[in-house]
Order: sequence, then C-alpha cells, then structure tokens
Amino acid sequence: MALSADQSEHTSQAIRPVSVVDAVYDSIYERLMSLEIAPGARIPMDLIARELGVSQTPVREALARLERERLVCKAHLIGFSSAPLLTRKQFDDLSSFRLLLEPEGARLAALRMTPEKLKALEGIAADMAEGAPALDRTSRYSRFARIDGQFHDAVLQIAGNEVIRSTLHNQHVHLHLFRLMFHTRVTQEALEEHEELLAAFRAGDAPRAEAAMRAHLSASRDRLLQAFE
Ligand SMILES: [Zn+2]
Repeated sequence: MALSADQSEHTSQAIRPVSVVDAVYDSIYERLMSLEIAPGARIPMDLIARELGVSQTPVREALARLERERLVCKAHLIGFSSAPLLTRKQFDDLSSFRLLLEPEGARLAALRMTPEKLKALEGIAADMAEGAPALDRTSRYSRFARIDGQFHDAVLQIAGNEVIRSTLHNQHVHLHLFRLMFHTRVTQEALEEHEELLAAFRAGDAPRAEAAMRAHLSASRDRLLQAFE
C-alpha cells in the first residue's frame, strides 16, 4: 500500500506527535484538491499556522510532504505555492503511461492472488465505497482520491513487479488526476469498475483482470477529460 513511505517518514519524526502534522497535512491537502487554494497561489505558512492554531513547524513539515507529492512547489524567496494543474499534454501522457503498465499489473496480480491479499484489497474497496458520511463533500472526495491511489498501489504490490509499482507510485497519479475535477460521477463509476476487477480476482481470471483494469483506466480518462472542455 501507499502507506509505506509515509510510515517510514513518521518513525523519523517521532519528536512531535505525528497527529499534529497529519492534521495540518490533511487540511492543506483538502484545500489543494478542492482548488480552494487556487493552482499557482502562494501558501503563506504564517497564515495557515495561525488559522489552524499551530506553530509553523508542523506546517512546514506538512508542506514538505506535499512538495514530495508535487502538490506544492517551493521557490527561493517566494516560499511554498500550490502546484499548477496538469496540462492536457501531461494528462494524456500520464493516462497512456498507466494504460501501459496497470493492465499488465492486474494480470500479474490475478496470477499471484491469495485469499489474504484479496481480502485486503476488498477491505480497501469497501473503505472507498463507505465514503465516510460524517465528512463533507470536499473531504470525501480528497479521501476517495487517496484511497483509490492505495487500491491501485495494492494491486501493483500483489503483482510483484517492484519497478512497475515504484515507477507509478512516484508519479502520485491519483492526486494529480483527481485534482482536475470534482465530480461525484467520478467516484460512483470508479467503484463499479473496481468491483469488476475484484470479481476477476475472485475468479482467478488473469485476462479478465487485465481487461477490467484497462476498461477502468480508459473510463477514468474519459471522465476526467471533461476537465479540459
Ligand atoms: Zn481506481
């Protein structure tokens, strides 16, 4: 799962309770995903620290984490600013890249599937479907983007090709794709497509899993294309 990188980060930051940085991170992350902080806008650390009632240190740490995910940029003398949205070219490149690697990843995952691994995947899918009703629409959507990333990463982890997995993981594709557009259709249809993928895994059907992943990625690309219209 995508958590491994974060977990190692946390262990090295044991001085301060992790929850403060996490809470600050979540707050900024949601505002970046919902474009409440506009793409390219400066992110004043002092203002955010005051707003959230924390010191600047956890804000700086949260922003550094977001910088690694390329949701924020840091420039000399200017400080942190919100990353620009993907261009149409970047979107096309990312979509093609995923279509090259992830259907093959799903096929390999089907071949290596075990009941335990399937159960873990189903757990992530259920977590997405649940949608945490207590959260507002913005938080739900940001959360969905994050868990979708974990779901796809988990499939690639099961596939066992570490080069494919880490290459995709380092692109943080989900965050950047989901940031393009806020739409409930994006979430509902994706859930149904994930279900088809899980059905293929349950059946141990590798070609079906490959086809299901390809269909999901193509449909997802078509949905998000609307962001450029
Ligand atoms: Zn998905």
